[in-house]
Amino acid sequence: MTIRTRLTFVFATMVASIMLLFSLSIYYLYSQHRETEFKQRLREEAFTTVRLLQSVGHDSGGVLRRIDVGDPIALYKDQVVVYNSNNTVIYNSSGQAIRFMSTLVTQIHNGREVYVRENDDELIGVPYQSKKGEKLAVIVTANDRYGFSKLNRLRQILTVGWIISLGILILAGWLFAGDALKPVSDIINQVNDISATNINARLRVGRQHDELAKLAATFNAMLGRLDEAFTAQKSFVSHASHELRTPLAVMMGEVEVSLMQTRSPEEYQKVLEGVLEEIQKLRKLVNGLLELTSASADAATLSFEPVRVDELLWQVRSTILQQNPSYSIDIRFENMPEQEEELMILGVDPLLRTAFQNLMENGCKYSHNQQCVVSVHINSIIQVSFSDKGDGISTDELPHIYEPFFRSNASVAGNGLGLALARRIILQHRGSIDVQSTLGEGSTFTVSFPKTYALSTESKSAGE
Ligand code: ADP
Repeated sequence: MTIRTRLTFVFATMVASIMLLFSLSIYYLYSQHRETEFKQRLREEAFTTVRLLQSVGHDSGGVLRRIDVGDPIALYKDQVVVYNSNNTVIYNSSGQAIRFMSTLVTQIHNGREVYVRENDDELIGVPYQSKKGEKLAVIVTANDRYGFSKLNRLRQILTVGWIISLGILILAGWLFAGDALKPVSDIINQVNDISATNINARLRVGRQHDELAKLAATFNAMLGRLDEAFTAQKSFVSHASHELRTPLAVMMGEVEVSLMQTRSPEEYQKVLEGVLEEIQKLRKLVNGLLELTSASADAATLSFEPVRVDELLWQVRSTILQQNPSYSIDIRFENMPEQEEELMILGVDPLLRTAFQNLMENGCKYSHNQQCVVSVHINSIIQVSFSDKGDGISTDELPHIYEPFFRSNASVAGNGLGLALARRIILQHRGSIDVQSTLGEGSTFTVSFPKTYALSTESKSAGE
């Protein structure tokens, strides 16, 4: 069932039910009114007849002549019967046989007014005391022909009116729902027109600030993010292929040149050394790409364990110094905590190692004195800063340094993946990375992590 059909159905059912209730109330109230009014007429007829009967006199054997009470609209099929205290009929207006039960007369003599309705015939019986003190029971029966005919007419009008209104309601509901849902079908049509080739297209938000405008704006924001991711993906692939192609081209060139003529073993050795260097670069690049992919994995799929940040830093330092003995890395603890737990990060050891290694290596690589100072500061969080005395990073380049393959300084060896990788790893560890750089003076990258025990108390309170 479409939303339009559902809305029409709900709308029509709701209003039709209200109208039905309204019509039934009108009908019921009118029928009550008719009954009260007719009872009153019967009562009046009873009293007028008995009074006239008293004034003209009657013989105890029963007066058979009709008394005209002077009612302008005479009652239809009426019969007035008067009983004396001995339950004897002293007056019968129509002379027809009496149809009601004699127990009614006893009830009237006991001082009660009685009312009985049988199909369209209604009866009222009232007690009356004559001037002589005689107790009489006056019973009037009649058929409210006009009242019932009006009631029937009212029922017909209400039924036909309700059926016509139902038709109008369904039509109006259908048109109204179509109009209300038009922006939704517009959005559907526009979304259908958007594909990978025109992902930069956006939905028309309109000037109204309603929910649908918000939906279109939210969808546009999502398209924006997709567009960005799509562009980044494209540039990533083109950069990656370019980076892979360069060492391959260099190797091919070197091999081709050396194959042009027969060379001495020393020359072959030199060429092979050159090829080996390029292969090492390629291996580093491919490893970097693989690590970048695994660092982009969902954090839920990684197994996090407590890692001591100071131990990790010392280990990374010695790895780097083994590979590059000319580098110098100085690790300083600004405040050493008393408890070991204060130094713990909940993380994945090899990933954190890669992130710290990239930041330390960058510090040494870009520093004029090949020295990187690592400072650890523990307060409510764990902060590790990597400072160098290099050229610094210009404000134009700062927003791009975490993009894969972005490189500003081609004279320094590298592939532009280090910072992108480090940032992804840090974010996966619920940490953050920040950089402060002054041109000509150097840069400081600061990494902050929540402590392990802070995380465990956080998850405990979330559990509670
Ligand atoms: P790579 O160092 O291999 O080029 P990175 O991703 O580590 O790649 O860094 C990206 C770019 O950010 C570098 O090319 C460099 O321009 C800049 N950069 C990173 N760290 C520093 C630093 N400590 N000092 C100056 N520039 C830096």
